[in-house]
Amino acid sequence: MTILIEQKNFIDPYTAQEQEIFKKCYHECPDELHLSTKGSNIIPNRSFCELPLFHAPLKLSDAPPNGIGYISPGGHHFKCDDPAKRENEDCILHKTNK
Ligand SMILES: [Zn+2]
Ligand SMILES: [Zn+2]
Repeated sequence: MTILIEQKNFIDPYTAQEQEIFKKCYHECPDELHLSTKGSNIIPNRSFCELPLFHAPLKLSDAPPNGIGYISPGGHHFKCDDPAKRENEDCILHKTNK
């Protein structure tokens, strides 16, 4: 009979798992929409990444999770409109207006 002495029920009190569970990624949407404009008192809503802290970066080519929002070039998921898409639309508008 082999006795495995390594198998002890050792609980590390410093494994702060509970603290990690609700931590979210701190990356913020780079869209200038979330920045307050000069001379304005309106503070826009800030948008943070929807994924947990230290998540693996998402692929830009992938569809955003749940079909909501967009994936930033850094691989983060934000629940707002893709600023890159809007810029492209602006460009098209400028061209057609001229
Ligand atoms: Zn993120
Ligand atoms: Zn945004």
